[in-house]
Parts: sequence; structure tokens; C-alpha cells
Amino acid sequence: MTRRTDVGVDTVRAAAYTVPTETPEADGTLAWDSTTLVVCHVDAGPVTGLGYTYAHPVCVPLIEDTLADLVRGHDALDVPGAWAAMQRGIRNLGRPGLVSCAMSAVECALQDAKARLLGIPLASLLGRCHPRVPIYGSGGFTTYDEATTRRQLERWLEMGLPRVKIKIGEARGSRVRRDLDRVALARKTIGPEVELYVDANGGYSVGQAVRAGDALAEHDVTWFEEPVSSDDPAGLARVREQVRPDVTAGEYGYHLPHFVALLGAGAVDCLQVDVTRCGGYGEWLRVASLAAGEGIEISGHCAPNLSVHGMAATSNMRHLEYFRDHERIERMLFDGALDPEGGALAPDVSRPGNGLTLRESDAARYRVG
Ligand SMILES: [Mg+2]
Repeated sequence: MTRRTDVGVDTVRAAAYTVPTETPEADGTLAWDSTTLVVCHVDAGPVTGLGYTYAHPVCVPLIEDTLADLVRGHDALDVPGAWAAMQRGIRNLGRPGLVSCAMSAVECALQDAKARLLGIPLASLLGRCHPRVPIYGSGGFTTYDEATTRRQLERWLEMGLPRVKIKIGEARGSRVRRDLDRVALARKTIGPEVELYVDANGGYSVGQAVRAGDALAEHDVTWFEEPVSSDDPAGLARVREQVRPDVTAGEYGYHLPHFVALLGAGAVDCLQVDVTRCGGYGEWLRVASLAAGEGIEISGHCAPNLSVHGMAATSNMRHLEYFRDHERIERMLFDGALDPEGGALAPDVSRPGNGLTLRESDAARYRVG
């Protein structure tokens, strides 16, 4: 492998792709029928780094017209410096939300470019401490009928996944009976050994979540994600005090203060982080350190083929979400997408960087920006 240490960040390019879902999907508080992937490429001397985020196509001009100017010319090995330039430069735009998604895509591409320049795997650049990252199957949308739910759960079992998650909180918590029927169906389908998780996406009130928590515990549910909105850390903490499953949140963490608020309120048993929203790998590792200081583990949210590198470098990691929409898109559009083995993903350490290449020919038909 060739080592290059004297190159600057050059062109920063972005493109958005909207991919229809297999069927209409919904969770407790949102419905959708497509997913938009924003891919960022960063050229640095002889290499090109790749990062991405799942967000709105408006991230494309945000990256190309604003963030590119802030990072261009930086030493390609000085990723924290380039990131700090973005952080300072977007002050008047506001960090949380789409700006942080765009920054995350750029930061992931910069880290990938650095690893490729050094000729080392991205997980090693970040400080790999785990060769394999346990994953859980995630989907179980509220729009699924019984047969579809059963088929998806059985597919995960065939893949050897020992943990699975379904959505509850349907129609903002107005169909609790159906939620619990679907949980019962899931438990019956997977048997007693596989871990069963649920995600309400903030669809319940505190009282509803506590009452549902009793029924969930009867089905040996051990993970209750966003029982109430993660904008209500005190509410999450109240639920956490009264239910047996672990209470978790963090996927909407776009900057450090969000994670500080969740941890400070005692809101979670396990802290979720999304590398495509939080600001990239550097910020991910800072979040992991905050959690480690509280004795809390990290669970990676979505984007499995990017998250796996951060998870492998997170000493206090629990597991990574193998989200149906994203693992499908990443398999459709990227060479180098990982296959689960033994209930885990293992970063490919035989290749420099993140090991991913966008298949432009397959992606072109989905391009929207
Ligand atoms: Mg969630």
C-alpha cells in the first residue's frame, strides 16, 4: 500500500438518490415510500473518499456550495481541522438537522480519503478495538401485514441474527392493541431465544409507554426505543424508571448537547448514535466517550456499512442496527457492502478506507440531485 501524506483536500462532490421502498412503510410517527441517500465524494491527491447521509436532496447544494469551500485546501490528513472549519463556517445556518447531515457525509468522506491515503482500513484509522460488530435485524414496519412481518423475521433468523426489532406506537400511539398483537406475533415467530426489541419512535405518552411496558416485558422485550419523544429527556427518564426493558434513544442527536441532555437526564440505558447525522466519526467518538463516562453503551443507528467502522472503534459498543431500508440500498448501490455472518458485521480490513465504491451505473436511475 502506498503512503501519501502531502496532499490537500480538492474537489468535494455530492449527489442525491431517491430509492422507492419495497412497499409503503411507516413507524409510530411517520410514513414513507422512498428513501433518499446523499453521497459525498472528496478528491484528495490520488484518492477519492466516500461518505453519505440519509437525508434530503437539499444537502447536495449545501455540500457543494457551502461546505466544499470550507474544507477545500486543508491538509487531507487534518480531518479534525477541516471539520472545525465546517463547524465554524455554518454558524448562521444552524448545526442540528440537515446541516449536520451534510457535514456528516463530508466528514465520513474525509476520513475515508485519509485512510486511503495512509493505505489502512478506516476502522484501523479510527482505532479498531473490535474485529466484529454484533447487529440486530430492524424493520417490522406498522404497515406490514402478519405474513410480511413473519417473513421478514424468518429471513433474519435464516441469516443468523440473534436480535430483531419491530416498530410499534402505530398512528401516534392510537393502536396500542395492534402494537401488542404484533409483538406477540413476533415473539411467537422467533421463539424464546432470540432477543426482541421494539421502537415506538416517540409515539406514546409517558403513561401509555409505562402501561405498554408491562405487556412488553411479558413477551420478554428487552429494548424499548423512544417510548416517548427524545425531545423529552425527562419523560424518557420517567418511563425508564418504571419499565423493565432498556429504554434507548439518541438517533436524532445532531450535536453533542443533545447527547449530554439525554445522559444528564438519566434518559437511556443505551445511547444510540447515527454517524450520518451526528457530525461524522470524530463526533461519534466524542459521543461514545461521553457515554463511557456514565457507564453507558453505544448502539449504532442505521447506515450499517458506514456505522460498522465507528462501532469497531467504540470500546463501549453494544450492537449496530441492520436496518432493512438501508442495508437494501447499500447492497443495491455500493460495491463492498458487507454481508452479516454469525449475527455480526466485520469491517473488511483487507482494503484501505471504508471499502465502498458507488456503482454509478446502478445509481443513475435514482438520481434526483
Ligand atoms: Mg428508532
